[in-house]
Amino acid sequence: MVYENPDGVRIGLEVHVQLNKLNTKLFCGCSTEYHDSEPNTHVCPVCLGLPGSLPVINEKAVEYAIKIGLALNCSIVEQTQFHRKNYYYPDLPKGFQTTQYDFPIAGEGRIIIEGEDGEHVVGITRAHMEEDPGRLQHMGSIDRSKGTLINYNRSGMTLIEIVSEPDMRSPKEARRYLDKLRSILDYLDVFDGDLEGAMRVDANVSVHWGERVEVKNISSFKGAERALLYEIMRQKNHIRRGGEIVLETRHFDEARGVTISMRTKEEEHDYRYFPEPDLVPLRVADRVPKVRETLPELPDAKRERFMEQYGLGETHARALTTEIKVANFFEEVAAKVDPKDAAVWVSDILKGELNYRELSIDAFTVEDIVAVVELVTANKITEKSAVEIIRTVLDDGGKPQEIVEAKGLLKVEDDIVATAVDEAIAENPEAVADYLGGKEKSLNFLVGKVMQKTKGRADAREAREKVLAKLNE
Ligand SMILES: [Zn+2]
Repeated sequence: MVYENPDGVRIGLEVHVQLNKLNTKLFCGCSTEYHDSEPNTHVCPVCLGLPGSLPVINEKAVEYAIKIGLALNCSIVEQTQFHRKNYYYPDLPKGFQTTQYDFPIAGEGRIIIEGEDGEHVVGITRAHMEEDPGRLQHMGSIDRSKGTLINYNRSGMTLIEIVSEPDMRSPKEARRYLDKLRSILDYLDVFDGDLEGAMRVDANVSVHWGERVEVKNISSFKGAERALLYEIMRQKNHIRRGGEIVLETRHFDEARGVTISMRTKEEEHDYRYFPEPDLVPLRVADRVPKVRETLPELPDAKRERFMEQYGLGETHARALTTEIKVANFFEEVAAKVDPKDAAVWVSDILKGELNYRELSIDAFTVEDIVAVVELVTANKITEKSAVEIIRTVLDDGGKPQEIVEAKGLLKVEDDIVATAVDEAIAENPEAVADYLGGKEKSLNFLVGKVMQKTKGRADAREAREKVLAKLNE
């Protein structure tokens, strides 16, 4: 199957990733743990760009940037240089942003996603380092706000901007790209994606292979998909009415789900980039081998290994390797029970129950899921009871073994089932005659009697087999 891309959609994404696991900012010693702090309490002359202050590069940030570049299969530059990008905006007190221009730390790379027609390669144009500006808080929506508050705590945090080629052909592919990127970054342990502002997306979108429109400031993945769906529909309608798409920048209004024109190409800034005189060019090449040694096994490689080592199918292997925490959890379970049972119970059952409650894998223990799987595989409880136990642990707490006893979930002994079968058959001669005369439905009636006699604790499939065996004697 080849995806035809009927609307000629091209989507490129620029993702700003905030490296919020570094303890200090990119060019100063200010703490990066500002999320619960009062506004403007994590600032110093350097991150505010006051006269006379001098930036000093955060070595750990450089290491993280190289690590990300390598994980995205990028080439790493020999030597990089920071530039000043000049523009005035209230969230940028210096009047310029320190960023990378013609020598980004990471050059061309690629990410493989699940595309509309199977594996799809999305090219990475570049990944560069820059400092985060402060944060504007509009009182109301951006185009109607009566006033704006500024918080500089975020100013000077390390950002990696990852720019893709316009290789995505639908909002769904864009979403898969973002999910994959997030997954890789989680594996690298360079950021906490759950923190506010950890990943921010700008999108370039065009239809019918035409001019592109930039949609800025999308703050969530769900928002990205919605913004893209809206923008593609808007462009198509505009063209159908005889309009022309012009190069412009639009803002995504998350609350209303629409994009609003901010400025056209004519108004675009000329940033006058020039080399940052306070930072010398930085040699990067020598550091690469050492960083490469710290790279973990990444999602694609882990998926392949899970299929090979544990004999899992593609779907299970994929579901279990998207999140590093889930992958590790699964491997611990698989060390104690049959890996295929582990895959079913962790991926299909447990993850479903967790998603439903919006909980992460931390909400359950390896020990407890192992206990549940062992009870099922030892044929002591039914699968239905096992699911009930998992739900009870999540909702009310407690240990599987205690819940089994408290709720009387142990399957009744085989001889009790056998007795119930004998009784059901002896007590219902009419049903027996009907079944033998060809009325299939009578079997269900007899199985129902067995379930009644065992108070529903027998396995229904087992009971059915036993009744059948008895009738065919
Ligand atoms: Zn500072």
